[in-house]
Amino acid sequence: MQTGSNSTARWKASDTRHHLHPFTDYKALAEEGGSRIITHAEGVHLTDSEGHRILDAMAGLWCVNVGYGRRELAQAAFDQMQELPYYNTFFKTATPPSIELAERLTALAPEGLNHVFFGSSGSEANDTIVRMVRHYWALEGKPEKQVFISREHAYHGSTMASASLGGQAAMHGQGGLPLPGFEHVMPPYWFDYGDTLSPEAFGEAAARAVEDKILAIGPEKVAAFIGEPIQGAGGVIIPPESYWPEVARICRQYDVLLIVDEVITGFGRTGHWFASEHYGLKPDIMPLAKGITSGYLPLSAVMVGDRVADTLVREGGEFFHGFTYSGHPVCCAVALANLDIIKREGLIEKVQNETGPYLAERLRDLSDHSIVGEVRSLGLVGAVELCADKANRTHFDPVGKAGVICRDHCIGSGVVLRAVRDAMVISPPLIFEKAHIDEAVETLRRSLDLTAQDMG
Ligand code: PLP
Repeated sequence: MQTGSNSTARWKASDTRHHLHPFTDYKALAEEGGSRIITHAEGVHLTDSEGHRILDAMAGLWCVNVGYGRRELAQAAFDQMQELPYYNTFFKTATPPSIELAERLTALAPEGLNHVFFGSSGSEANDTIVRMVRHYWALEGKPEKQVFISREHAYHGSTMASASLGGQAAMHGQGGLPLPGFEHVMPPYWFDYGDTLSPEAFGEAAARAVEDKILAIGPEKVAAFIGEPIQGAGGVIIPPESYWPEVARICRQYDVLLIVDEVITGFGRTGHWFASEHYGLKPDIMPLAKGITSGYLPLSAVMVGDRVADTLVREGGEFFHGFTYSGHPVCCAVALANLDIIKREGLIEKVQNETGPYLAERLRDLSDHSIVGEVRSLGLVGAVELCADKANRTHFDPVGKAGVICRDHCIGSGVVLRAVRDAMVISPPLIFEKAHIDEAVETLRRSLDLTAQDMG
């Protein structure tokens, strides 16, 4: 493909004229002269149309777990496309890759998650869950159990139902969201909500907020609680260790299903196959996407526990739900090859024993910086919280400005990090080496210095 200044100018102009991007301010993008065009990637590096080589410390959108340029995944797709490029899984048909992947996923997932419903995205997975859970409670003779409880700053997708599950105020400000039947509670975000409590005491308080909400709605009306083990797109909010055991206990006490959204945290990100292992969680339902194919093809999976699946099977009656691409054979074949790579290369052990602890150590070094209020990480996902006043955990005004400035300095220096409000977020490919972590953290430190100057 032709690259260089001519094609870059043409692409930028055409992109701005015709292409409406996700989560983008179209006016601002046009004024800035268009997008950065990524033309190639290999390992942990991106190349743009102007020839810049950029370290991708975000694994695309938290998804390219095995890194770029894996011929093995391309081969798996090529072979499957020749054998059977498409067939659906409706109407009592299946394909070998969809069957094999369902079996592999149930073997990897936390205990009891023995059934899989496939989709193409995390949003579809969470929409599926809303319909499946309400259907389940109806079959159980409790059709009034309809309400989903989630957290502020949660991200569960962009469709009407998954955005309602999410707790993103900006998203709720458009399109009449959240839909009725979706309630939100305080997240376990000590830096912002913890006030004078210790993190552990705050974790318990945040769990109590779930219980208070269940009681306010009435347990007989609450279908499920949904949470990301670590709230990724909300700013890598890592709950105090006291939080999850208490939330799980509360869900059991009030017969509320526990849905653990592992779309980001699955497939090695936290140094486990799933973060549920770290927190000792036994979800009733667990949506997966992103790292399932390392982003090479779109695929998601709803892992469904025996409790829900047994009722669906026992009671019978059609579940009127599904997607043309549910269980797409090529996507499933690529997922199987991707799981092989994660296992064969010991990527989970590498994150747990080597790069995860090293990232934590290097991020800790940034704690002394004048505008760093907190650093947090688990495995290869972390955040550096920028603030105006460290002692009081006071944000810059307006919130978000320092984050964008810092992010732009990072990418200007050849490293992709993301800013969520004023949290600088890192979530690199699991093949990141210590030297890549050094490069990312050192670039971030220089960018923090520049941001501190810019913020005056
Ligand atoms: N759930 C979580 C936790 C996510 O982070 C995301 C996307 O970032 C989604 C669901 C939605 O996934 P998708 O963008 O594939 O629809």
